[in-house]
Order: sequence, then structure tokens, then C-alpha cells
Amino acid sequence: MAGDPKIAILGIHLESNRFAPPVLRPDFAEKFLAYDDELLTDSRGTHPRACGTLTGFVREMDRLGPWIPAPLVYADGGAAGPIDHDFFLELKEEMRTRLIAAMPVDGVYFPEHGAAVSTAHPDPDGELYEMAREIVGPDVPIVSVLDLHAIVSEKMVETTDVLVSYRTNPHVDQVERGAECAHVMHELIGGVKPEVAFIRLPIVAPQVKQLTADGLYAEAIQYGQTQIDDTVMNVSILGGFTYGDTPFNGMSFVVTTRGNKARAQSLCRELAERVWQGRERLLPELTPLDDCIAMAVERGVDPSLEQIIIADVADNPGGGGRGNTSWLLKGLYKAEAKDAILGVFFDAPLAAEAHGKGEGATFMARFNRSETDQYSESFEAVVQVLNLSNGQIVGRDPGSRAGMAIDLGPTAVLRLGTVKVVVISIRQQCIDPGYFEAFGVDVETARTVVVKSRGHFRAGFSVYFRPDQVIECDAPGLTSPNLSNFHWTGFKRPIYPLDMNTGWTPPDW
Ligand SMILES: [Zn+2]
Repeated sequence: MAGDPKIAILGIHLESNRFAPPVLRPDFAEKFLAYDDELLTDSRGTHPRACGTLTGFVREMDRLGPWIPAPLVYADGGAAGPIDHDFFLELKEEMRTRLIAAMPVDGVYFPEHGAAVSTAHPDPDGELYEMAREIVGPDVPIVSVLDLHAIVSEKMVETTDVLVSYRTNPHVDQVERGAECAHVMHELIGGVKPEVAFIRLPIVAPQVKQLTADGLYAEAIQYGQTQIDDTVMNVSILGGFTYGDTPFNGMSFVVTTRGNKARAQSLCRELAERVWQGRERLLPELTPLDDCIAMAVERGVDPSLEQIIIADVADNPGGGGRGNTSWLLKGLYKAEAKDAILGVFFDAPLAAEAHGKGEGATFMARFNRSETDQYSESFEAVVQVLNLSNGQIVGRDPGSRAGMAIDLGPTAVLRLGTVKVVVISIRQQCIDPGYFEAFGVDVETARTVVVKSRGHFRAGFSVYFRPDQVIECDAPGLTSPNLSNFHWTGFKRPIYPLDMNTGWTPPDW
């Protein structure tokens, strides 16, 4: 290679819940859809909109020396439904023509999520990698970062050189992993030949059992990191995203070495065997809805009890949930649980109505007047408007969102009886205490806090709550960890724990 390396950057960042409504161009545009130089301007700016995997890569490449970025297309849809297939083909074509125009390149970087499905295809991420491989040929490195929840297909492994997944959940290492990919890219351009081993276990672990602070999954990731040395370049263990419901679902182990196939295979197999043997530790333990309400009521009357945070894990917008199921809200309101706060409830028409009425106004609110999802039941209560805002805040989560610009859309704090709820207009999970505090709702003194989130809130809220103060609620919803609640059609069966007697034989390498 002569001169500074030219690196193409493109990708889709989407985690698809197959049961949620499809997403189209406006959904991506609302989150972050950028072309050409806008990608770079954003990554190098003070408050980037793109995921840390893109900014981490760009900034580290900048630091490592002169390079020629070829930013093409980046589409961030966050966590939502399947991408509309026609729109996917449109995006893919935009990427294809731009990559061809950028040729020749010395490397390709994908700041990918890896758990996208389209309305007609189970593996759009693999399709994009394959398209890039066909254009750049076998010798140009393709490096991709992946979310820890990525669903890894054989095609994804075969058409790329190195896959690097997050190692933390809640995800607080996105910037770091993007930077790691920059180093990997430099090594590959310098002539290092990676050897990769891949195993997918037939396990769809409930999302609540894929945390990385402790537990079986955490131990596997931590052990993998102790094996990094001059030979082992990267160990990625991906829990997968159950609600994608594809034939490629499972827990994936991807081990990359510098030119040593045997070492990659032996380590990969060892890691998979450890998890397989301990798989019973992946079964969820949820608290029934009624017990959650009772705990909140007790805390409202007995100050000697410690405050709790209840995670509405079944309605996690970070996993494609609508962020508007009302079982917990209704339950707390009816039981008159004192000093209970709930956030963030996605209901744009209701937020708009509150803005029309003004702060201090009282009116009969109808939650979910226009939603059609089966879990988004509507419900009515007299509310008082406590606070109104445009919903533009800056993240305080010490992990992934610190300093990031967050847009919740027009926001209203409503009081119904003893409960305060933060109503937002742009659907997302409640990831840090700023989602309450920016609107005058005090988290520290609340007796019960309910968050629409599965696990990502744990980083930001750890300033107030220890892990033993977190209650995972078993309410209905699109992201329930209770896997028997869903009608699965995509998985290869048998798969654990849906089929408890699933078998697995290690590869004969
Ligand atoms: Zn994730």
C-alpha cells in the first residue's frame, strides 16, 4: 500500500424486535441517518449523535496517524422493529454505489449493531458485509464492531476479517471497542492475517441474564479476556437478541488470533463448553407484577425500608418495546403507592395535549389513545401537569451516554394520584436519572422508581441503587424475558431454554 490508508465507513445500527412494527426512512432519520462528510463532522463534534463505535473509531484513527476517511452511509435506527425490506434494499444500493465510487480503498469499517432483520430477510447485516466483500475483493480488510446482542450468522463471519463485540452490558465500552477496531485495522493493513473460530450454541438466554457484572455470561467474558496475548487478538462472546427470532439466534463465540487457527479453535471450544455446562444459570428470576406493586406500597408507608427501582423489562424500548404499556403505572396509581415515579412513558399525543393545557392544569388524560400494539392498552386518569419541556437534555450516565445530546421530544411530567410519570414524544428507554431530574422529578428521594428499560439503566442509576435494590418485573410486553409468552417461528429448534432437553456436541476440530 502506498500513501495514507483509505478507509470506507458504512453500516446499519439496528436491533430488530421481530414482533414490533417495521421501521422506514423517517424512523432512521429521527435517530441518525447520515451520508458522506456528515458522518465525520458528527464523529469529530462535541456532542455526537452517532453511536460511540463510530466516534471511537474515527477519533482513534485520527490519533494513530494520517488516513483518508471515506465516509459513505450510516443508518442508526436504535432498537426497533424489522427494517422495511424495500427500504433496506434502497440503503444497500446507496452504500453499494458509494463504495464503488470510493474504490480503491485499503480497508472497510462497519460500525454495525448486528441484530437487524428485515421484513423479508433474517440477515441484512450479513448481506451488507457480503456486498462490501464482493466490491473490495478478498484482500482488503473488513472490520466490524458488533453489539453484544448481535445475532451472528455464518455469512457475517465468513465475509469479514475481524468481528469485535462489546464486552459490557450495560454497554459502556462502545467508544473503546470502536478504538479497538482502529487498532485492528492498522494491524491488518500492516499485513497481519487473522484466523477466526466461530461457535454458536443453541441457547437463547433471556436478556436479563446477559449482564456482564456477574453471572455465567459475565464469567465467560472475563475468562476470555484473560486469554488475550500476542497470539489471541480478540475474544467476542455475543448473547444474541432473542426477539429477532431468526435461524441464526444463539449464543455466539468468535475468537480471532494472529495467524493461529488451532489456538482460535481450542479457545473458542473451551469457552463454549464452559457456558454450555453452566446453562441452567441462564434461567430468569422475575418478580410477579402484583408483588412489585405491593413492594412499592410498603415503601410508601414504611420509611425504614430502602427505596427500590423496578425495571419494566417486558416493555424495554431498547429492545423494541413500545415504552407505553400501562400495567405498572395503573397498578401503582390504583394501589396509591406513595412517592412512586415512572419514566419514560412514550405517548406523543398525550405530551402534546399537556403542552396545550399548560403547567398546573388538571385534565382527564387518556394514555395510549392511538397505539395499536396489543400490549399498549389505553387507560384514563385525572392528571395534573407539573412540568413541560422540549425534552432536549444531555446524558449524565457515567457510561455510554455522558455528554451525548439526547432528544426526548416534547415532554410532560404528569401527577396522577400519588404517582408522577414522565411522558415523552420520542420513544427510547430510560437510561439515566437525568430522564427524571432534568424535569424536576427527584430520583434520590422517591420511594419507588419504575424504569422502562431492561438492563441499560443499571449503569446510570447505580449512583442511587445497588444491584440488590433492582426488581425485575414480570409484566406483559413485547420484550418479556418469559420466552413462553411468544410465538416463535424463526429459531432453529430445539433451542435452550425453550426446549429444556436441547443437546449440543462440540465441533470436532
Ligand atoms: Zn445491545
